[in-house]
Amino acid sequence: MGLLEGKTALITGASRGIGREIALKFADQGANIAFSDIVFDDHAKSLEQEINDKGLKVKGFESDASSFAAGEALINDVVEEFGTIDALVNNAGITRDNFLMRMTEADWDLVIKVNLKSIFNLTKAVQRIMLKQRFGSIINMSSVVGVGGNAGQSNYAASKAGLIGFTKSIAQELGSRNIRCNAIAPGFIETEMTAKLPEDVKEKWIKTIPLQRSGAPNDVANIAIFLASDLAGYVTGQVVSVCGGMNM
Ligand code: NAD
Repeated sequence: MGLLEGKTALITGASRGIGREIALKFADQGANIAFSDIVFDDHAKSLEQEINDKGLKVKGFESDASSFAAGEALINDVVEEFGTIDALVNNAGITRDNFLMRMTEADWDLVIKVNLKSIFNLTKAVQRIMLKQRFGSIINMSSVVGVGGNAGQSNYAASKAGLIGFTKSIAQELGSRNIRCNAIAPGFIETEMTAKLPEDVKEKWIKTIPLQRSGAPNDVANIAIFLASDLAGYVTGQVVSVCGGMNM
């Protein structure tokens, strides 16, 4: 029996990368999967197909996580389709890297809106469902950069640090109703997001990692399974680093 048997999970920004892997691995553990992405493209279609082939209920939704109204509509649509939401993974995120000297206001605003406001949008909308059922696990995707900062990523670091404060506050607000809220802080994980980085930057990063390698989306998905499952029933308000020891 899977660790998430009979549960329904909603994962944002799941067509690609870490979110996609979480959706697939949650399904392997028996969860029904609702997922969203900003565009419903071939990646989203193939994810629906792959999960369908595993014999689980799945539906992808085109939804902008940074929009408050779209977030409310998404939660309503998922509940209508699946009946409930047991786990929410706020995974959607973007980078618009630049040194502060060259960073535009638009790049600051967009990163804060997609990476941080999205978490307010979806968590606020899902809480009434979880409060009613007196059960829920909310997982917010932070980053080692949110803990330690990174030159050239002040907007991204601010968004990822901000969501850690949000996570701990929500853990305190909702803990008495058996709703847990945790953050994952991945290090350097090979996805389209990190494929954009120059090779010399990647090599420099890997030298700082005690395990001496980059991570795979699966490394993050394994921790998400744990946090969504009853194995983590006494774990809330925590930031779990998945970074090969880059941050200690
Ligand atoms: P990715 O770029 O491969 O995938 C992100 C997905 O989010 C894409 O499918 C994209 O279309 C979707 N998305 C973007 N904006 C959206 C929006 N407004 N609404 C809905 N969906 C949207 O990125 P990834 O590497 O898989 O990263 C996933 C999460 O993990 C992000 O929050 C990222 O910041 C975080 N993270 C990644 C790494 C890494 O090394 N890859 C490290 C730390 C944290």
